[in-house]
Parts: sequence; structure tokens; C-alpha cells
Amino acid sequence: LAGRAAHPDNTVVEVGDARIGAEFCLIAGPCAVESQVQMAGVARRVKAAGAQLLRGGVFKPRTSPYSFQGLGQPGISMLTEAGHEAGLPVVSEITDPRQLEDLDQVDILQVGARNMQNFALLQALGQVRKPVLLKRGMSATVTELLQAAEYILAGGNRQVILCERGIRTFETDSRATLDIAAIPVLKKLTHLPVIVDPSHAAGRAELVAPLALAAVAAGADGLMVEVHDRPACALSDGAQALSCDQFDRLAGQVRELLPHA
Ligand code: PEP
Ligand code: MN
Repeated sequence: LAGRAAHPDNTVVEVGDARIGAEFCLIAGPCAVESQVQMAGVARRVKAAGAQLLRGGVFKPRTSPYSFQGLGQPGISMLTEAGHEAGLPVVSEITDPRQLEDLDQVDILQVGARNMQNFALLQALGQVRKPVLLKRGMSATVTELLQAAEYILAGGNRQVILCERGIRTFETDSRATLDIAAIPVLKKLTHLPVIVDPSHAAGRAELVAPLALAAVAAGADGLMVEVHDRPACALSDGAQALSCDQFDRLAGQVRELLPHA
């Protein structure tokens, strides 16, 4: 179902003003929802910079159980209210099918790299009529990513967006190695939209813009970038967060690279 042969026209996922797969899409926001003030501030700034969607995690799949785990259910209304006020639909990660009811007001459900092969979660999302942003597992091949998407599609949910976010290699200077080749490879193999998260690949704010621009040049349908109002104070992934000013500059550079309509 994910293959081009099954579906020659590109899948377009329409959410708010975004037509993901048809028009370039910018998703931005903090790694984690931390407060109402933080979310309102970031939402207003990323909207002004040209983003079409707001992100923010409330159920955080942290590597260490002692790291900040996200605000959980109380964070959801901080995200959705900030999005509503700024006029931005919202994206948030789901780590367990039992969170579906809590995440009812979220416009796009994200499956994180650590859950790309959580088959019970993928099957549950196949039953949902809402877009799913499926991130590539950190050690998953392109074929495995497409097979994971297949679980959701096979359940009847055809609104799947794929996301390259860097893979594990021997290189340690960046947090993960952004697989730029995966973009044209996926665009050839599948009709599903392909977006890129340069933030988790970079691990450091200074690497985010070059990776983002490389992804745009390679044909990505969009970007998802971590942005924080005060990166130095972030409760998760602060080192890779762009400030609102830095995101504003990046959005301008991205527009210069895009073919003008
Ligand atoms: C995230 O988007 O905050 C996240 C946890 O990303 P990944 O699953 O790609 O590590
Ligand atoms: Mn993060």
C-alpha cells in the first residue's frame, strides 16, 4: 500500500493550512511542552516565521527513566490552546494506544523513532482516522520504515507522513547521521509525504540549519524543527533547540531554496 505502484499519485495530508505532500510544510515547537507561557510564546513566534504546524511532546519516550518524562495529560491543553490561539494545528507523540483518548484534540499523532516497530501501537493507529507522522527508527532501514507504515495503512488509515530523523552510525560528532539519500530514495519508492527532522540528527543547534537546508535541497516535503523560547533552560533536548530568532532566520533561508509558485 505504501508503494508507488499501488498509488501513482502523491498522498496529500491536509491539516489546517498545510497540504503536506503538495506544498512545503514547516512544523516547529519545543521538544516538550513545559508550560502555558512557553507554548503560547513559541506558537506565536513560529507562526509569524511561517510555520504551518506546532509541535510539542507531552508523553516523552526518554532513554533514561530519570529524565523529564513530559507533563503527560495536563500538557495537552497547553499545546492545543497555544495552537488554537496562534492558528496552528498541533502534532504530539503517542507512545501507547491508551493515550488515544487524551490525544483526541491533537491534529497529527507522532510515532517516535523508539516506537517505529511498536506493532501494537501501529495497528491501533491503523484504526484511527487522523494523520500519523511516523519517524524512522534510529537503526531502521528504509524498507523497515516502509513496512512499519504498511501496518498503519493496512488498518485503513491512509494518512501517513514519513520522517527521516537521522540514524546510528559510527560517527559521534552529530547525535545521529542524517540520511540525506533516504529522501530521494523514499520519494521514488513511495507516494507518502517525506519530511525531515534535522534537530534530532544534529543534536546541536549550530548543525540544524545546514542539515535542514540540505534536506530541502534533496526534495523533502517539509521540516520538523525543535524551537524553544529559552533553549538554555529547556527540560529536554535544549542543546539542539533553535531560539525563536534562529528559527525565523532558518525559515527565511528555506523559502529562498524553495521553487517559487
Ligand atoms: C521527538 O520528536 O521529540 C523525538 C523524541 O524524536 P525521535 O523519536 O526522533 O527521537
Ligand atoms: Mn526532542
